[in-house]
Amino acid sequence: MKKDFNPIENGFGTLSVWAGEDQLFDQGATVPPIALNVTFGYNDLEEWQAVANGTLPGHIYSRNTNPSTRILEEKIRLLDGAEAACSFSTGMAAISNTLSTFLTPGKKVVSQKDTYGGTSVLFLNFLPERGVHVELCDTGDVESMLVEIKKGCDLLYLETPTNPTLKLVDIKQLADAAHQVGAIVVVDNTFATPINQRPLSLGVDLVIYSATKFLCGHADALGGLITGKAELVKRVFSYREINGAALHPFSSYLILRGLRTLELRMLRHNENAQYLAEYLESHPKVDSVFYPGLSSHPQHELAKAQMSGYGGVLSFTPSGDFESVKIVLENLQFARLAAHLGSVDTIAGPPRTTSHVEASPEERRMLGIPENLIRYAVGIENVRDLEKDLDKALRLI
Ligand SMILES: *Cc1c(COP(=O)(O)O)cnc(C)c1O
Repeated sequence: MKKDFNPIENGFGTLSVWAGEDQLFDQGATVPPIALNVTFGYNDLEEWQAVANGTLPGHIYSRNTNPSTRILEEKIRLLDGAEAACSFSTGMAAISNTLSTFLTPGKKVVSQKDTYGGTSVLFLNFLPERGVHVELCDTGDVESMLVEIKKGCDLLYLETPTNPTLKLVDIKQLADAAHQVGAIVVVDNTFATPINQRPLSLGVDLVIYSATKFLCGHADALGGLITGKAELVKRVFSYREINGAALHPFSSYLILRGLRTLELRMLRHNENAQYLAEYLESHPKVDSVFYPGLSSHPQHELAKAQMSGYGGVLSFTPSGDFESVKIVLENLQFARLAAHLGSVDTIAGPPRTTSHVEASPEERRMLGIPENLIRYAVGIENVRDLEKDLDKALRLI
């Protein structure tokens, strides 16, 4: 039975369970099998040729397309209400393939200083080496971004909320300005997911995800996804086919399995993080808390306008110096000290070993990242246990 899904009419919970799973395997498998085969055999040369030409549906070779991976792409496409989607081996592969497709020598990209660590290495080192002009503005400084965009640019690259200080950028305002100069607008929506933020409805052309984080949700598969305008996704896909950064079908399966509970998990991440952000804000041993859901967040109004939930990541500075960070982190029972976020389990760490391991102390200072910051990626545990755990660790300072 061919099911008709509509991202306007069907809720996220329904789409994440059902969407994309109806067409690719026959024989009634209710859970999509993992097609580990590298290649697809044909008895009939005409049929093979037709599939190769794209006039008949099917697959030729798994670096190009694969049925298990196709299901995942279809599910994220419907969750984002996009024309098309494409998968990659990692989130960084999604980002670097997208930027490499559109940023040939002589092109200009405008972005913000605060992007994911790996992305900023592309902006600071690899893209300039290849003759791309990179303009990085202070995150949240809309005026300077507008000035740079108006001077002319080929691509506007945004990430919101940012890592680890949870700053926001106004997607709609900047996307409108970028379109006036004919630029392509790309947003890394990893932190928010389709549940909390819908960049395509704010005028964005392409959305990027590290599927390794919330979409997978269980810290057992790496992957990247993009969604957006068909013509643009097709260009990135053509580059990825040759560049070779294809997602492994087993990882596709694991991310697909994670996606089925995306809405449930995100609602819990949102709820737990909001509760703990408010709790930490009132704690005598905490100096500052960064979370877009707090009314004290300088961009809380923007958060309310462009997000429907504020996500599972918060950061805070315990009172004192880095010694306090060490005391708190090493005494948490229910937090893994690791470089990851977006999993069912709570994960915590300082920027110097997580998001900004590549940056020097001066660079972190320039980005406004306090050395005594703790990024706390709230899991889906019982929030009272997390509260008690934080309180116990903070009292040791
Ligand atoms: C983790 C992350 C990436 C990179 O994803 P990988 O799957 O680790 O390559 C990109 N952007 C953001 C916002 C991330 O958190």
